[in-house]
Amino acid sequence: MFELPNLPYEYNALEPFIDAKTMEIHHSKHHAGYTNNLNKTLEGVDTNNASIEEILSELDMNNKALRNNAGGYYNHKLFWEIMGPDAGGQPTGVVLEKIEESFGSFESFKEEFTKSATGQFGSGWAWLCKKEDGGLCVVSTPNQDNPLMPGIEGGTPILGLDIWEHAYYLNYQNRRPDYIEAFFNIINWSKVEELYNN
Ligand code: MN
Repeated sequence: MFELPNLPYEYNALEPFIDAKTMEIHHSKHHAGYTNNLNKTLEGVDTNNASIEEILSELDMNNKALRNNAGGYYNHKLFWEIMGPDAGGQPTGVVLEKIEESFGSFESFKEEFTKSATGQFGSGWAWLCKKEDGGLCVVSTPNQDNPLMPGIEGGTPILGLDIWEHAYYLNYQNRRPDYIEAFFNIINWSKVEELYNN
């Protein structure tokens, strides 16, 4: 059984960048839905207590229900963790070093990430991933897919942005680029560094 994780902050903590109502619906309805449906999908399946990461990496991509719900469960869990109040700005330490190594500068990374998130057609996610050699790359994926799944390039996600309309429509309507810009004010870079070092 997977459980809906509590947010590490209040629903209104990310205002004005993400409004409380959006956070509440997103967490208590959307993420809760993926969690419940993941558990239903796994009913009667012996997963041997596999972690969500293990389930994703061994996923049968033709199993649509598991693909959507295991993806949705993991993606949102990561998303809540890598945001926070009193955050944003530029990373420091190893993450800044790797960003500069991989993209040239923080600004170039931001541009590439924004382009990837803006360019993803329809619903999906934009990711900053750690590659096997420790370098970083930006990818985007449709629906609830992510780079842990078989055949999806990228590596291990250390930062993810939900670009489904349910993540921003109440406040930003069709203005996805404004939502992406706002996201940079609430990235919890110390959590990203923790994920990089894992
Ligand atoms: Mn979502």
